[in-house]
Amino acid sequence: MLDGKVVIITGGARGMGAATARRCAAEGARVVLTDVLIEEGAATAKELDAQFVPHDVTKPGDWGEVVATVTEAYGRLDGLVNNAGIAVQGPLERQSLEEFERVLKVNLVGVFLGVQSVVAPMRAAGGGSIVNISSVAGLTALPGTSGYGASKWGVRGLTKIAAVELGPDRIRVNSIHPGMIVTPMTAGHGAVSGAGRFPIVAAGRCGEPEEVAQASAFLLSDAASYITGAELAVDGGWAAGITQFRAPTSAEATTDETAATT
Ligand code: NAD
Repeated sequence: MLDGKVVIITGGARGMGAATARRCAAEGARVVLTDVLIEEGAATAKELDAQFVPHDVTKPGDWGEVVATVTEAYGRLDGLVNNAGIAVQGPLERQSLEEFERVLKVNLVGVFLGVQSVVAPMRAAGGGSIVNISSVAGLTALPGTSGYGASKWGVRGLTKIAAVELGPDRIRVNSIHPGMIVTPMTAGHGAVSGAGRFPIVAAGRCGEPEEVAQASAFLLSDAASYITGAELAVDGGWAAGITQFRAPTSAEATTDETAATT
């Protein structure tokens, strides 16, 4: 499905980025993966017969080098998956300004720089596809995610603005919203360590990185030729609603009303 396409995947050393790189390579793409984790990134690239470029997505100069390396090596660029990200959790009241700004810088500014950097080479290639990895935290309010959630809502909005601006250049831009996925990022999370069971979502379990990778590969491919500005939840139904919400019974509601009037 991706035969001959040249695709950059950021944060490709491990987790979802590595799974996406593997999937794209299996579908015939020439993959360039980038990361701040140099040893892990180089090892993943070697396994896939792909190219690795050290890259901090917050640095405009790094983006220039990545794009130059790709266009020199392959003469074109067809796809970008803005996957690199970090997670910071905790109550809004106690989140430090430094943490808030750090997560916005990697997760949102990094995506902005990525989109900006690939416009010229994609335009020259006659079009392209950009997939921005947001989160279910960019579709709904998850408590304890003020910085992270703000960055992911930002990615969702930026995706639509980019889609509208870049449509005339035949560049499609879409966002993916993973739910609870088993990767190093979520390794310490109770749902992931609990044998992957995640009963609050319709699927009843956590997702595997490959399940997100397939969605990215689809959006990169020509099979998604009329899809742009869209948001695709790959979350086992999390954003649709949680399974364990219990509405108050009529007796509880009556008691509350009585309490309010006495
Ligand atoms: P991960 O921590 O396993 O992988 C993230 C990768 O990004 C790492 O290899 C890391 O080194 C790299 N990275 C971090 N900062 C970087 C920077 N400044 N420049 C370049 N690379 C950098 O996490 P993951 O779960 O595979 O996450 C991938 C993406 O999916 C992230 O954007 C994350 O927010 C998002 N996401 C993850 C989940 C989940 O449940 N795992 C859910 C929703 C969204």
